[in-house]
Amino acid sequence: MEQIQLILTPQQAADEKQIQKAVANSLHLPFADIQDVRIIRRSVDARQRNIKVLLTVEPVIKDTPLLPEEGKPHYQDVHHSKRQVVIVGAGPAGLFAALTLLENGIKPVILERGKEVSERKRDIAILNRNEGINTESNYCFGEGGAGTFSDGKLFSRSKKRGNMQRVMELFHYHGAIENVLYEAHAHIGSDKLPGIIRNMRETIIEKGGEVNFGKKVTELLFADSSRRRIAGVRCEDGTEYKGEAVILAIGHSAHDTYRMLANSGVRVETKGFAMGVRVEHPQALINRLMYKPLRTAANGDDLIRLLGNASYSLVTQVEGRGVYSFCMCPGGHIVPAGSSKDGCVVNGMSASHRNSPYANSGIVVEIRPEDIEDSEKLTSNNEKQVNADGLAGLRFQEYVERLAAEHGEAPDKAPAQRLRDFVEGKPSKDLPPCSYLPGIVVSRLDLWLPDIISKRLQQGFRDFARKYPGFLTNDAVILGVESRSSSAVRIPRDKETLQHVETEGLFPCGEGAGYAGGITSSALDGINAALYIAQHPAG
Ligand SMILES: Cc1cc2nc3c(=O)[nH]c(=O)nc-3n(C[C@H](O)[C@H](O)[C@H](O)COP(=O)(O)OP(=O)(O)OC[C@H]3O[C@@H](n4cnc5c(N)ncnc54)[C@H](O)[C@@H]3O)c2cc1C
Repeated sequence: MEQIQLILTPQQAADEKQIQKAVANSLHLPFADIQDVRIIRRSVDARQRNIKVLLTVEPVIKDTPLLPEEGKPHYQDVHHSKRQVVIVGAGPAGLFAALTLLENGIKPVILERGKEVSERKRDIAILNRNEGINTESNYCFGEGGAGTFSDGKLFSRSKKRGNMQRVMELFHYHGAIENVLYEAHAHIGSDKLPGIIRNMRETIIEKGGEVNFGKKVTELLFADSSRRRIAGVRCEDGTEYKGEAVILAIGHSAHDTYRMLANSGVRVETKGFAMGVRVEHPQALINRLMYKPLRTAANGDDLIRLLGNASYSLVTQVEGRGVYSFCMCPGGHIVPAGSSKDGCVVNGMSASHRNSPYANSGIVVEIRPEDIEDSEKLTSNNEKQVNADGLAGLRFQEYVERLAAEHGEAPDKAPAQRLRDFVEGKPSKDLPPCSYLPGIVVSRLDLWLPDIISKRLQQGFRDFARKYPGFLTNDAVILGVESRSSSAVRIPRDKETLQHVETEGLFPCGEGAGYAGGITSSALDGINAALYIAQHPAG
């Protein structure tokens, strides 16, 4: 379908009818022939007094269905299927793999260490009241995986738009609102995601698949003593599950499972990752910085209503390493996103309306394996082990998360410092209000964060302030640590067969395998693994 560029006022861009009218004019068609308009890209040019909204759109001409019949999934009944595949993890990668197996007549058996989504909600409420973490049921572990209580921003930098569209179609089929089919920056909302995840589970079970909770996989079963071919898995409670393949969709927080793999002789590798802090500003300040006309406009509230709370995306280079914003949440909250009792990890989310008075974002520093060789000696207690087992990055992550916990307050209060104080190396006397529910305590992040993080962050914040004066302010606060923005471990796999390079039938998949990041690309990775299995029956 033809794409059209439109330049509109904020008022026009906020009004569907006005957009349709602009499309009809541009195509020289009657208004009534434009059934709908898919917004492919939307950006705001707020540099001048008159704000412009730039839209790239695809018109839907009358009588064309948004999700045509051929886009709807046709799930087969697999109660008596001869083919069975074990899936470890019920995050986006695991769930979309299961749905794709169903379409191909193969029985998926999902094993998830956490709880089902409604029970998980209760554990998260306890965590937010600072009453302690359940290490098997939290923001990382449980039905739906790590993104379930995020704002479900369905963005991806992947160019494979054809397949991406499949992910959106399956989200829509299971209850996501229609705009995920066409919005370039679709956003489901933490209040909506759990219902969609539940619908996916119901599809899987109704068609004959299995979704088992409280099943932590702690051992791999091999077909013979050469340990070259996988046969299934064993769970902590001793139950065994066999299948022609095992899709390992464990996410990147299952450190114990990475260790289990390394101890079983399944090769894992240290890869580059990123760590830093979460910064939170008053949303009104970010709106003023990003929407220039707001600084003088009398009708600021109207503009915000039309444009939504402002977001930002920042990037710079310090000493040859990227320092950048990650998962910016306008009108959002900072959340405790760890999975262990002795580490402090933060992340961010927003509800679908994005209307809290705070704007938060991860600000992280790129870390390469060679950056942590020295600290590896600190963290491994074993010179010989340094970087040899592929877990160096993971040990460094854990080391910094433990430091954060020591400088916070048990069980889950996070260490915090005012932003300008952090950059100038000064203690904060007190802290501003903050959205992080378990609470924050004053701390010297500038002193205890490893230099490869703190010094680069300090310079990064100075660079950002050159672009947006006002960003570097003591009205903002930083919390430690943002350590799980990407996987520190790769489970190496073959590019063509998607199987582990040394273990046949084992499909490392999603974010935890180190080949995806974010909800959509992890879901897509799950689909691809399942399609490969469907097309290549074992034996
Ligand atoms: C607070 C927060 C906000 C986020 N916001 C966004 C966002 O807005 N947009 C976005 O695209 N991404 C976001 N992300 C990242 C996104 O959630 C992940 O990229 C995505 O969920 C990865 O999918 P996955 O299926 O590979 O792994 P995960 O979602 O991590 O799922 C892995 C699952 O495997 C289970 N598991 C692990 N080990 C075992 C085992 N041994 N046995 C059995 N089960 C096991 C875990 O319990 C988990 O449920 C956010 C993450 C967090 C934490």
